[in-house]
Amino acid sequence: MSRIDGKSAIVTGGSRGIGLAITRSLLERGARVLICATTQSGIDQTVGSLAGSYRDRVAGTVCDVRDYERARKLVLEAERRFGGLDILVNNAGIGKFGNVEKMSPADWRATIETNLSGVFYCCREAIPFMRLRGGGFIINIGSLAGKNAFAGGAAYNASKFGLVGFSEALMQEVRYNHIRVSCVMPGSVNTEFDKSAQNGVSMAWKLLPEDVAAVVINLLEMDPRALPSLVELRPSEPKK
Ligand code: NDP
Repeated sequence: MSRIDGKSAIVTGGSRGIGLAITRSLLERGARVLICATTQSGIDQTVGSLAGSYRDRVAGTVCDVRDYERARKLVLEAERRFGGLDILVNNAGIGKFGNVEKMSPADWRATIETNLSGVFYCCREAIPFMRLRGGGFIINIGSLAGKNAFAGGAAYNASKFGLVGFSEALMQEVRYNHIRVSCVMPGSVNTEFDKSAQNGVSMAWKLLPEDVAAVVINLLEMDPRALPSLVELRPSEPKK
C-alpha cells in the first residue's frame, strides 16, 4: 500500500499547473486533499472536475497565502474536514520579472509575500497539527531560480533563494519531530506561470507539471529513513 493512502494533505495553488498535477497524483494514491487559490472560479472548476472521481476526498477554498489569517484558517479547515494534517505542499507562487529600478514596490511585495512569507505562514500553522499526528511532510516548491540568479529576476530570485534557506533551516528544526521538509527546485515547466514565454513557440523541451508531481510522490513514498532535502529537477535538453 502507498505511504500516501489515507493521508490528509494541503496543496496551495492547487487549482492549475504544478499544484493541480500534485493534487491529482495525491488523490490517485488515496490521499484526501484540500486545495487553495485566490480565485473562487479556479477552485470551483478544479474541484468540480475532480469530485466526480474522488468525491469527498477533495475540497477547495479561497485563500490568499499572503494573508496570515487566511493561511491559519486554511490549515484549520484541513484539520476540521479530515481530522488532521499529514502533508503540506507549499506550491502557490507567482513570478514578477523586471529590472529593480522599474519594478513597483507592489510587485516586489506580492512576489516575496506569496513565494516566501506565505510558506512561512502555512508551515507555522501546520507544524503543531503534524506534531499531534506524530510527524508529517512539508514539501516546498522552489525553483532553480533559487540557485541561479539572472538579470530581471531580482524579486523572484530573492523569494526563491530565501525559500531554500527557509526550507533547510526548517528541515533541521523539525526533523526530530518526525516532520520531514524538502524543497523541490524545478527548471522551466510548461504551465501558465510565464505567459510571455509562450508566443506560439514550441514548449516541448520544458518539463511537464506531472514531472514535478512525480518527484513529490517519490519523496512522500521514500522510506522515512532517507530525506532528499533539496531536489533539482531540470529539463534534460533545454532550449539552447
Ligand atoms: P501557475 O501560475 O500555473 O499556478 C499557480 C497557482 O498558484 C494557481 O493555482 C494560482 O491560483 C495559485 N496562486 C497564485 N498566487 C496565490 C496566492 N497568493 N495564494 C494562493 N494561491 C495562489 O504556476 P505554476 O504551476 O507554474 O507554479 C507553481 C509553483 O512552481 C510556483 O511556486 C512557481 O514559482 C514554481 N515553479 C514554476 C516553474 C515554471 O516554469 N512554471 C519553474 C520552477 C518553479 P490563483 O491565480 O487563482 O490564485
